Amino acid sequence: MMKRRQFLATAGALTVAAGAAAALDRDPTTAGMEGTSRAGTLLPSRTPMGPRGLELLRMQEDLRRALKKPVEQRKWVMVVNTKKCSGCFACVVACMAENVAGPGVTYRTVPEQEMGDYPNVSRIFMPTNCMQCDDPPCVKAANAKSPGAMFKRPDGIVAIDYTKFRGKKVVEAAQKACPYTAIYYDDGKLWTEGTPAPQPYEAAPSSEYSQSWHRTGGEPPSGSGRKCHFCLHRLDAGMIPACVSTCDGGVTYFGDETDPHSLVSEILRKHRGIQFKADQETEPRVYYLADDTEATDNLKTCLACHQGGV
Ligand code: SF4
Repeated sequence: MMKRRQFLATAGALTVAAGAAAALDRDPTTAGMEGTSRAGTLLPSRTPMGPRGLELLRMQEDLRRALKKPVEQRKWVMVVNTKKCSGCFACVVACMAENVAGPGVTYRTVPEQEMGDYPNVSRIFMPTNCMQCDDPPCVKAANAKSPGAMFKRPDGIVAIDYTKFRGKKVVEAAQKACPYTAIYYDDGKLWTEGTPAPQPYEAAPSSEYSQSWHRTGGEPPSGSGRKCHFCLHRLDAGMIPACVSTCDGGVTYFGDETDPHSLVSEILRKHRGIQFKADQETEPRVYYLADDTEATDNLKTCLACHQGGV
């Protein structure tokens, strides 16, 4: 964790300017596959950073720019390109480590699905997490049981007050309201509980919502509802979410959609981004790229499990 923070801070200071300029000419839906830009020129993939490194630096710089604005003037969005996901689960592991998630708590999941008929079959992966809906039914359901348990922040993130979003009944009400199965109840268990080698890292505090939380001893977030918050504590510290910084495949992007110069704004201008289960009218802040037939077919296959429609 410290190594990554130090790396980003140091690398960002040294190479953001060059990296951002180079990444501007890169098409995120295809770059990294063939090594040429849309204009056919050689991409700066021969740099020590590599293409994804340049994208990460650009998103880091986008974040710093956004953090200089008042909170109500930034709107965070996530963009996912399922065509590039190989199902390595690095984002899932990074998320669990970052947020000290116990058994049964997985803010980030990567469901997989086979599509096609033999011999033309493929396997697709659909990274997903809380969609940070602009009209979040979970907030209404949770607050009806426990006022102040959940709330929508001005920057778009749906946040939790761990001291109020507590008890199975409160959490179940929000879980039922969420169309995306994004909320988990933390029962306080540890992965290595009852084994000959309990691991001290499981008792380490998390930094969610920029506070120090200890799951052990029945304290929140143990006994609370939990979900993705776009790594709000990292954003506050000037770092992009853990799942994004760990995704080496160029699948997940993050940034401020009100900034026309941000990488996410550029991607959403150039490519068709769709919201899952748009018919639910929760206005998700996560977009999935669906430019072509293959991408759209992938998403339709994913939705067969998610019981929704593109
Ligand atoms: Fe709430 Fe579910 Fe939307 Fe997240 S995805 S804001 S938990 S309704």
